[in-house]
Amino acid sequence: MSNFNLFKNRLRLTGTLELETALRVGSGSTDNLSSADISVVKDNLYRPYIPGSSFKGVLRAHIERVIRLVEPNCGRGLGACNPLRDDERCLSNTQIENLKKEFEKDPQRLDAELFDRSCRICRVFGAPWLASKVLIKDLLLAHPDLWMERRYQVRNGVGIDRDNETASQGLLYDYEVVPSGTLFNWEIIIENADQSADRTEDGLVMLGLNEFANGRVQLGGGRSHGLGWVKLHFDDEAEIIDASNRDDFIKYLATGKGCKKSREYILKRAVLFASILAKQEGKNVQASI
Ligand SMILES: [Zn+2]
Repeated sequence: MSNFNLFKNRLRLTGTLELETALRVGSGSTDNLSSADISVVKDNLYRPYIPGSSFKGVLRAHIERVIRLVEPNCGRGLGACNPLRDDERCLSNTQIENLKKEFEKDPQRLDAELFDRSCRICRVFGAPWLASKVLIKDLLLAHPDLWMERRYQVRNGVGIDRDNETASQGLLYDYEVVPSGTLFNWEIIIENADQSADRTEDGLVMLGLNEFANGRVQLGGGRSHGLGWVKLHFDDEAEIIDASNRDDFIKYLATGKGCKKSREYILKRAVLFASILAKQEGKNVQASI
């Protein structure tokens, strides 16, 4: 049974995110400092940033797609449910309510049951009943001193009237983008990942980050117009705090610093996770013969 109150490990990854094409992470409206109809999200100094939640949503969606290919059924630590639909989640609201009633007097058992029935993705990225192990900070400009107001670009968009398939004046709008080449810093913390050989949850997250590193991911709006292609770069080292290594853990408590691990070590975790999936594919092939 998992003990949810124990600190087991923490992996801190950092690097930069480069915009290969312009980015539109819209604020959903205009702001009074912008001339565009749709402006991008900005900090209180009028500089763009990428909300960690936006980044995390895209990262999760990419990993879900990979997992669904190999593990089409979800629940009990496998597969990827659809977190947006109650009837397609690994635990529906009704099931959760039933479990709450069943284990009303044993909250620890309830936590364990909820965790046990959750899919592979919810166990790592969280669900309404489960805390996320992945924390992503807002991505801020890597060189804020170089940023100036004129660096925003405004582009024209045309809304198509669905009835007569023409653009009418009322449907014209313009929107703000952050130009290509802009660099953001990113920081991801993976806490209490199950690092056992058959789970390798840190490797699962790395698998998704590799998609960003290979330039196969788009962020923000206007993706069909080619906006939002990004490329992620890893720093040379990551930081690991492993409570099972008592000497290192005591050193961390004393200094506040974890162990440094090379980028190659971290990338290998993705390979290890991919080999878990490959084995399952093998099993499926065997079963279907
Ligand atoms: Zn799930």
